[in-house]
Amino acid sequence: MSFLAAASKRVDDVRGFLRDAAGGNSIKYTAEKGARHLIYIPYKEKVVMGENGEAIKQRALEALTGKVHEWTGVDGKYKAVICMKDVVRKSEDGTSLLNDGTCPFCDRVSDAWDIYRYRKELEEEKCKLTGDERKKHLEKVTSTFADERKAKDARTYMYLLVVKFRISENGSPVLGSDNLPEYDLKVMKLSSSRVEKIQQQIANAGADLPGSELIFEYPSTDDKRLQISQSTTSPVFPDRQLLVRYPGLKDKIDKDVAKFDWEGIDKSFSEWSGMTTDAALATTNGLFEKWDEYKKAVAINPSAQYMEYITDTPVSQPALAGATAPMQTPNIAGAIPAPVIGGMGGEDIKMPQPPTFDANAVFGGQAGVGAPKITI
Ligand SMILES: [Zn+2]
Repeated sequence: MSFLAAASKRVDDVRGFLRDAAGGNSIKYTAEKGARHLIYIPYKEKVVMGENGEAIKQRALEALTGKVHEWTGVDGKYKAVICMKDVVRKSEDGTSLLNDGTCPFCDRVSDAWDIYRYRKELEEEKCKLTGDERKKHLEKVTSTFADERKAKDARTYMYLLVVKFRISENGSPVLGSDNLPEYDLKVMKLSSSRVEKIQQQIANAGADLPGSELIFEYPSTDDKRLQISQSTTSPVFPDRQLLVRYPGLKDKIDKDVAKFDWEGIDKSFSEWSGMTTDAALATTNGLFEKWDEYKKAVAINPSAQYMEYITDTPVSQPALAGATAPMQTPNIAGAIPAPVIGGMGGEDIKMPQPPTFDANAVFGGQAGVGAPKITI
């Protein structure tokens, strides 16, 4: 077979080509600034046995759940991995153990809280502000310290297969050559609190999640956290639903959903790539390297300091009139020089990373331009 035959892909439709070229082909559903999305929640019919042995049809969502550890890597980027607790797996040839059932991230959660407390106490000691200013400052920095924890308890997410309809600029559905609305299958990553909120909004309208058509509306803000927390979900009235207005649409969707396979989901949600126990240990040991060194040092010398987050520009001290040189964190006079853990000359010192936030985790999408209003 020629390389051309093996590597090329035919273009069947220009719109599809342009969408793929723009990277819009990802299965990952993303929130979008100022947009309204029309979403259908597909389901599969499942037959379960009732109490009296009778067959009962149930609507089952196409969804996965996973407990996810999230952290900021040394490169400052958002990272996530599915919790490895109780995951035991061997290599394909069965000779080596890839996962032994322990989770190095779970095992570091208490160390991460210790670092949080260390930083909080240091800040309280160092902060020269008073009254309300002090209170506000400490609240702000401690919430940053909490965000910056290097290991956190795993959070439960739901990965839900949804159908996102394509809507034209005038707000009507884009129709394909079969005269049915065009759509993309997407996977929504939802925190449990977000599932609860959506569920509540649907229940208030007397509807049920599987089989519902929903309008997700996102506020016009660049703040991804607000995009999610201030978004609204409302069910479409039954007589306005695309699946009602276009007979044949449900069949088409059902066939696509039946073909859907979670294999490869790790390309869109990297946490599903997983990690071996060894790789996870190497990661957590790397993240906590300076802390581990400090713990060893302080056992020998009680005045040892943990320097990972120390920068030489104090942010919480009021500026002194006429001060020209940057103030240094004062040394305790006469103290035995403490072994310095972490960066000394500045080359190692990292400014604290901006806090990671859930919105990024939930959708991870780029804010797009305001999408046309949908009239449904
Ligand atoms: Zn874990």
